[in-house]
Amino acid sequence: MERKGRAETFGFLIDMDGVLYRGSELIAGADHFIAQLRSREIPFLLLTNNSQRTRRDVVAKLARIGIDVEDQHIFTSAMATARFLAQKKPGGTAFVIGEGGLLTALHQNGYAVVDHDPDFVVVGEGRTFNLELVEAAVRMVLSGAKLVATNLDPNCPTQHGLRPGCGAMTAMLEIATGVRAFSVGKPSPIMMRAARKELRLATDETTMIGDTMETDILGGVQLGFHTVLVLSGGTRLEDLPRYAYGPDLVVQSLDELGRTLDEAGWQPPWLSTAPRDRDDSDFLVEPVT
Ligand SMILES: [Mg+2]
Repeated sequence: MERKGRAETFGFLIDMDGVLYRGSELIAGADHFIAQLRSREIPFLLLTNNSQRTRRDVVAKLARIGIDVEDQHIFTSAMATARFLAQKKPGGTAFVIGEGGLLTALHQNGYAVVDHDPDFVVVGEGRTFNLELVEAAVRMVLSGAKLVATNLDPNCPTQHGLRPGCGAMTAMLEIATGVRAFSVGKPSPIMMRAARKELRLATDETTMIGDTMETDILGGVQLGFHTVLVLSGGTRLEDLPRYAYGPDLVVQSLDELGRTLDEAGWQPPWLSTAPRDRDDSDFLVEPVT
């Protein structure tokens, strides 16, 4: 596999909520960190389990808080879900409980959104959730439609505390139907592996940066990525001993990570210090995941 023109042979998958911002507030230093990655041509993707927004919406939200990125830097669970469904059943149909991000991603991947006899019932985040939709979805699942969730996050942080997440809404359908939903978002290897492949990185060239042990760090560890936990979101240092797995590095925020990388000449110290003189065949071997 030719990889000409690449400035670096490492790159980052970066969670957004609790890493770049909290609610609508920038986490200090995140703007500078992303600007550094761009100016140094270090490949990265910004990942979110939130399926509500389109790529464009996310770019606009980030621009408002001073983070300058393009559409191709964004990878949402809505995109991962739509691509997965399009691979599994090209040209299929979906009944959707969700909003623009999910609807757009499904349309872009050749799916029709229907309200009768769908191949899949797909659940994402949104503010339009109501009992009428749930009742229709339950009937469809019991008639054979497959139940898919963009993610199973139980809740999401806001400026005012927590709001119920997609996992909470999905649980209602699961209990009513007795069917377990299939989820594509973090920590599912489907989303995290697709993100790595989008950057054309090998497993050991990939570092996942996130604030949540159960999604970002767990998914990264399961896939063999390097992992960095930031404490600017939902996890505290004293939470770590109760997990059987852990990140390679813990930092307060992207600001501190940027300073650590600055000191190392932007060669991540957690990567192998051996000269990176592997031949091309290394890149042709896909790790079994
Ligand atoms: Mg997060």
